[in-house]
Amino acid sequence: MKHKRVSKNEIHEVEILDLSYEAYGVAKIDGFTVFIESVLPGEVVKVRIERVEKRFAFGKVLEVLKASKDRVDLIDPLGTRIGTMPLQHMAYEAQLQFKRKFVIDCFSKVMQIDQDIVLFTLGMDHPWHYRNKAQIPVREIQGHLETGFFKRNSHDLVPIENYHIQEPEIDEAILSIRNILRDLNIRAYDEVNHEGCIRHIIVRRGHITKEMMVILVTNGKTLPYREALVQRILEDCPNVVSIVQNINDQKTNVIMGNTSNLLFGEDKYYDKLLDKTFAISSHSFFQVNSKQTEVLYAKALELANISHDDIVIDAYCGIGTITLCASDLAHTVYGVEVVEDAITMAKYNASLNAITNTVFEAGKAEVVMQKWVKQGIKPDVIIVDPPRKGLAESFIDASIAMKPKRLIYVSCNPVTLAKDVKKYTEQGYELISVQPVDMFPHTTHVETVVLMSRVDK
Ligand code: SAH
Repeated sequence: MKHKRVSKNEIHEVEILDLSYEAYGVAKIDGFTVFIESVLPGEVVKVRIERVEKRFAFGKVLEVLKASKDRVDLIDPLGTRIGTMPLQHMAYEAQLQFKRKFVIDCFSKVMQIDQDIVLFTLGMDHPWHYRNKAQIPVREIQGHLETGFFKRNSHDLVPIENYHIQEPEIDEAILSIRNILRDLNIRAYDEVNHEGCIRHIIVRRGHITKEMMVILVTNGKTLPYREALVQRILEDCPNVVSIVQNINDQKTNVIMGNTSNLLFGEDKYYDKLLDKTFAISSHSFFQVNSKQTEVLYAKALELANISHDDIVIDAYCGIGTITLCASDLAHTVYGVEVVEDAITMAKYNASLNAITNTVFEAGKAEVVMQKWVKQGIKPDVIIVDPPRKGLAESFIDASIAMKPKRLIYVSCNPVTLAKDVKKYTEQGYELISVQPVDMFPHTTHVETVVLMSRVDK
């Protein structure tokens, strides 16, 4: 059937049939798909067509004619426009259900599962101001240096002062630094002509220690008024313990470059998780929602059911957070991670917490695992926490060759999680439990912890 295409600026009344995993409501006009922001399934809305592509269009809601029972008032319409809170119009309980359904759908696409093993999403009591890290683009708008966020699917900066999802002290620090940059007349980066200086301000904060690290990402080595800048940041933000200049002179969307200059303190700040202290460097990964990270790790360790003579592997270990939390329960924990600097931090963190039963190795997990297989390391439990693309085939093969009793898979992407779990279930492992955890309220992201168990023990 050939569908009639809609045209720009047309106004239609539509029913929202579904919610996509980018948080767009899905409607059909004579069979043609229209994506609409800030709506919920079951709603009837008046919509204006804004952009028409070959197979679908985007529409803007003009009026909600029939509202869903899950609709709540917006905290800030900008949060939807810039995509930091695309689900803010949905009641929090409904967001948690939506995330569980997403996980179920991802599994159902690749394998048969009993939906009951996918537990209800663990949410936050107070789902605001949760981020301990902000990466804020800096641009010039009408002669003013501005900090904010890009409009969704664009590089148009929208000035923002209150982000609602970051720790408020981080919002304050960004405004202070913005004002200092304005006072000193330091130029913002100009993406079109690839000139100017400050590309991004990154602020990281210890949720427990309150220590802050400021990273100024610059378009080249030059940083005018460096000393005055550092001095003013320290005066206005007394909790800052580390200031790093990161140089990124490439035409790229990647935020940080490879080289850094230390401007103040050391290239680290400290925070605590589950009563352990961690040093975190500018280049190493650290979970951005501290409260929920404790929920996530506690769940992963509960499912891992580690006993004192167990050998454990923590693959994709970052600065050793899960490794060190598991070390109290285990005989020995091996951690592997590709970023060398993170492994340096992991070793340092072990000594900081007087932990002596961990072994860390820098390298690709898929390569180091094969080496460990050859060395005859026989883990009872393997924990993995890979990036969004999931596990390499060779990692899966090496982990199965080690015959662990249990596998814990911590995932930030249920699509690759489901595909990887399917491979394990085809090679002697049973899927026992799937626990979604909400690390990013008001966004569509979902973290999941999975327990798999070997069938012939
Ligand atoms: N478990 C840690 C880190 C999880 S993030 C925590 O909770 O903090 C995933 C980590 O995998 C990152 O530190 C990233 O640098 C690392 N990584 C990415 N690809 C890798 C690979 N092929 N081998 C090992 N580590 C990798």
